[in-house]
Amino acid sequence: MQKRASARRGSANLARMIVIMHSDASEAEIIQVEERLRQSEANLHLKRTDGEELTIIAAVGDASAVDAMQLESLAGVDRVMPISKPYKLASSEARQHERSAFQIGSAKIGPEHFCLIAGPCTVEDNQRAIDDAVASSAAGASMIRAGIFKPRTSPFAFQGPGLAGIETLKEIKRITGLPVVSELTSARHAEALAEAVDVIQIGARNMQNYNLLEVVGKLERPVLLKRGLSSTLDELLQAADYILKEGQEQVILCERGIRTFETATRFTLDLNVIPYLKLQTHLPVIIDPSHAAGDRRLVPAMSRAAAAVGADGIIVETTAEPELALCDGPQQVPVAEIADLAKAVFAHARLVGRAPSRNF
Ligand code: PEP
Ligand code: MN
Repeated sequence: MQKRASARRGSANLARMIVIMHSDASEAEIIQVEERLRQSEANLHLKRTDGEELTIIAAVGDASAVDAMQLESLAGVDRVMPISKPYKLASSEARQHERSAFQIGSAKIGPEHFCLIAGPCTVEDNQRAIDDAVASSAAGASMIRAGIFKPRTSPFAFQGPGLAGIETLKEIKRITGLPVVSELTSARHAEALAEAVDVIQIGARNMQNYNLLEVVGKLERPVLLKRGLSSTLDELLQAADYILKEGQEQVILCERGIRTFETATRFTLDLNVIPYLKLQTHLPVIIDPSHAAGDRRLVPAMSRAAAAVGADGIIVETTAEPELALCDGPQQVPVAEIADLAKAVFAHARLVGRAPSRNF
């Protein structure tokens, strides 16, 4: 009984703070603060960020012992500020409102660039997937997408080639030289997929699979985290915290359409997320117009809209003969049209001050 009461009190009193060190704080002073935080009874999770000017330490955990620590009296500490949001490590405050930018292989993702990720929904025919990737690269894609584990609504639908597709992913990487993004649906394939690809995708259906999020957070691979079909942005950012707390700093968020009363399109693309998330998080945010629309005729317009509203990139499905695809055929753009789509999208990105994230 007593234990339950204290657990309840603990979660209500979650500590949310960042410790901002003086710009001239020494390494020894920073370590002393980290040690004080670690030694507390508050069971804090720490994340240190060394900026050009200053070092900040975000601390999240049980608040009960924090006040007693008197951190502000320690040498080198400038300020201790509370983080007011339910998400902590993903919050803008955790990085002093500075936006994160990542270099992933040859691709840049961050506030100055526009990252086009393109490729087939799924590796179905090996050679076709490779050809789709090569055409996407020629069109200016910075990364290639291709799924091998597919989370299908029906257990009787094609589930992707599974591990049999791993060699094709490696081949795509080898031939294009571009980073490859692919979805992980089960922790048991984590190591194998991480060995083959550069970015691990967590799909919409697994955004709240917290155990899987902790597994990918440990894989030492950047993560593309998609918003759940019916998840709020607060939930998305707290899901990102699950990955960040494991030490993986390179998390890219992705809006891919949400469930609304509207059934004319597959999902409703929520473009509000771009300006909203820029206020709330330091993480890059991209748009998936393909899964949102479910209809390739809508994809070029929504891709341009995403660029114009300031997205850090888009992820688009494209394949040679979409009508033959076993998965997501209606929404895949014919690969013969991907260069035109890319050109128009880059033009819109330039209008908001972003260069394509790769020279081509
Ligand atoms: C995908 O990108 O192939 C996919 C299944 O997307 P989502 O998880 O957004 O449905
Ligand atoms: Mn798909």
